[in-house]
Amino acid sequence: MTEVAARLAEVQGRIRSAATAAGRDAGAVRLVAVSKTFSAEEIRPVLAAGQRVLGENRVQEAKGKFPGLKADYPDLELHLVGPLQTNKVREAVALFDVLHSLDRERLAEALAAERQRTGRCPRLLVQVNTGEEAQKAGIAPGEAVAFAARCREVHGLPVVGLMCIPPVEEEAAVHFALLAGLGRAAGLPELSMGMSGDFETAIAFGATLVRVGSAIFGSRTVAA
Ligand SMILES: *Cc1c(COP(=O)(O)O)cnc(C)c1O
Repeated sequence: MTEVAARLAEVQGRIRSAATAAGRDAGAVRLVAVSKTFSAEEIRPVLAAGQRVLGENRVQEAKGKFPGLKADYPDLELHLVGPLQTNKVREAVALFDVLHSLDRERLAEALAAERQRTGRCPRLLVQVNTGEEAQKAGIAPGEAVAFAARCREVHGLPVVGLMCIPPVEEEAAVHFALLAGLGRAAGLPELSMGMSGDFETAIAFGATLVRVGSAIFGSRTVAA
């Protein structure tokens, strides 16, 4: 077994244990292996080990790596976990199966227009700025439920859940609890929360998608 496959197996084991400890079905938590900054050749062993859900944070970088990988693994499911500029919507809709960063009205409009044009739209999660940080993207918690409803009802978009990235210096659990409450209020089943440092806590609070990069691929040497 390669080193990366061993780390993947370890993370999968920790996900199962955290789900069991929380009284949840382990199958209700899906692992998104975040491969940003790693090359297609570094991603292949993870695919060979059976992982099929991968995440990237830049459209351009994913475009360089994934068409070839998708050709070899047709059931590969690709998620965009980073911000999406409106001028990249066309490429993103063509390449990704799930977008975690629907964070503004203009983007909702652009996705609706692209859906109209192509008949295609990835499943969407609304990014919520749970820490209300000025520098961070996302809808304010107080507006998230109404925004999600507007995206579905006015724009006809397939919004399936909410996503958050807690402030680094704060207790993540508070933010996971807030997101879970908003998800219930919005009637949305998916919660994308938890990264390498805190995915077990996120699972305790109901995460259905955990976004794990460095615990699988190793530490990133390039800024992402
Ligand atoms: C990079 C990234 C992750 C994965 O982070 P790790 O700490 O390496 O697990 C998760 N979510 C988003 C939005 C990211 O950009």
